Amino acid sequence: MKEVYHLRLRNRLVKDILPIGFGKILGDNEFAIRVVEITRSDPYFELLQKRYRNGEEFILTSWSVKRNYTKQEIGAARLFRVRLGTPFEPCGEDCGTEYEEATGCRVCGAGAEHRGPLYLRESNLPRTDIGHSIADEIVVRRGFAECFWRYNLTGPTFNPIYQKSNKAIIEGWFEVADLPRLANIVEPTNVFNNPLMTLPDMGQICPVGDTIGLNLVSEVYVDVDLEQAPSFFATKQFTGVRRGMLRETPVYLAKPDFFDFVKKEDIRGLSFEIAHLRPGSNFSMQVVGEYRGG
Ligand SMILES: [Zn+2]
Repeated sequence: MKEVYHLRLRNRLVKDILPIGFGKILGDNEFAIRVVEITRSDPYFELLQKRYRNGEEFILTSWSVKRNYTKQEIGAARLFRVRLGTPFEPCGEDCGTEYEEATGCRVCGAGAEHRGPLYLRESNLPRTDIGHSIADEIVVRRGFAECFWRYNLTGPTFNPIYQKSNKAIIEGWFEVADLPRLANIVEPTNVFNNPLMTLPDMGQICPVGDTIGLNLVSEVYVDVDLEQAPSFFATKQFTGVRRGMLRETPVYLAKPDFFDFVKKEDIRGLSFEIAHLRPGSNFSMQVVGEYRGG
């Protein structure tokens, strides 16, 4: 696996530690951004982490990561992480969908389900075969659902979606519902806010232990009984935060039969990483025991 982090840094705060010519500088004033592609083994990565840790959190403006696998690694994988594309708006709540917040965690609210139909605006649905809203409502085209059944894949149910304007069924689309949440995220998964952080941000962790951090920074390691797991499922834990319409999201997982279906049918709107199986390891950031707070 080859892993490259794409970091956007404030040039004025990093130019004394990064060599001239390292990365690409956008802009020519004090607000210039330096875009670097860097691996964790690069000595400059550690220097950036050190600067971040020393209170200069503003050095980083945004980041992403790309992982490439060999054919052998893909062929040997028993589980994959499913990454969905850029989320669409407006989400269900903005279109009149009602959420039953009492069904979610009483502290962070993660896992709350909507009551009654999912309303969305048809014209804003993705142009791909599968996509998700900013509130993590997953939608698929009819062709995706029919093919999913034809391949005898298991996991979700596909529910109709309704038009915001006239409450009519949106033909040709389904919501991915009731996705089983089976896997436990375990060590050494990194769910810090970003790759430059070296300690967890306790403010992003729910004391109940369901929301375990802001972003999945590393590949995911899980404990799950694969024999019992369906083709497409999710983790018990969530990442993210409730902010405005944004909702916490579990990590989506797929077995090789789902991976093969996506490749053979050329399904658009998702990508894969390898998910690692680590039975029995503990997740240290998870608070064990009963939460007694308010
Ligand atoms: Zn919670």
